[in-house]
Amino acid sequence: MIILKLGGSILTKKDSVNPEIDYDNLNRIASEIKRSLDKKHKELVIVHGAGSFGHPPAKKYGIGKEFKNSEYPEKRIGFSKTQNAVKKLNMEVCEVFTNNNLPVISLQPSTFISTSNGRINIANLDFLKKYLKEGFIPILYGDVVLDDDLKIVVLSGDQIIQYLAKNLNSDKIILGTDVDGVYNKNPKTNNDATFFKEFNSLDDLDSFDLTTNVDVTGGMLGKVKELLELADLGIESKIINIGKKDFVYKALEDEDIKGTIISKK
Ligand code: ADP
Repeated sequence: MIILKLGGSILTKKDSVNPEIDYDNLNRIASEIKRSLDKKHKELVIVHGAGSFGHPPAKKYGIGKEFKNSEYPEKRIGFSKTQNAVKKLNMEVCEVFTNNNLPVISLQPSTFISTSNGRINIANLDFLKKYLKEGFIPILYGDVVLDDDLKIVVLSGDQIIQYLAKNLNSDKIILGTDVDGVYNKNPKTNNDATFFKEFNSLDDLDSFDLTTNVDVTGGMLGKVKELLELADLGIESKIINIGKKDFVYKALEDEDIKGTIISKK
């Protein structure tokens, strides 16, 4: 079973003020997945980020920050608006995927996942497994969820990936984003950033200024933190640049492509 993350940075234009989908990337990736599955059937679960869709309402209403009970009515509206915004992105992703004859089934995290202090504590994966068994491709995405301590939080696609990898028997975990993998510092703002073929510890990073994209869930730092937790359990994952043509296809086909493997030392 393969778990594939499609970064919000690739599916949406994160820099634009209004949420906008990058249809070129989305169509290309859908056709690459189709091409690989046509070659040989694979069990696949897809998780996508929220990109520019979740950010504006989540930021406006300060979702994820502590708040007073008197502010709850407004926070609930922020929650609803954020949930609706990421759902719109998910609908478009599913539309493009079904147009490519991919049998996707959208599973909305806010309806079956909750957290405690921001970490997943309830998530019933029975339905996901049922759909997988029947040959469907479950799609989940970064969403807002209820939290036992903080009431409402943003749940990143990267944390979902980590949870699924721990709880499903996956043999491959691929995280697609808009850079080639992990560098010692942000490669977009530092020409001299050095690339890691393998990454084992946060100590290897030069700075913790790890996010340039507008993101409420932690950018590359959030990603590697989740993946290092998996590495501690002996589960390896790989970060690749899916802005590059054929990289999703090649990753699904086990071809050797540039990327960072997150593993234990
Ligand atoms: P996605 O939306 O694809 O999940 P994010 O935008 O959250 O990805 O994170 C990827 C971004 O993290 C890259 O575009 C890059 O600019 C930034 N980044 C910051 N620090 C690093 C680093 N040390 N190595 C790689 N990328 C980094």
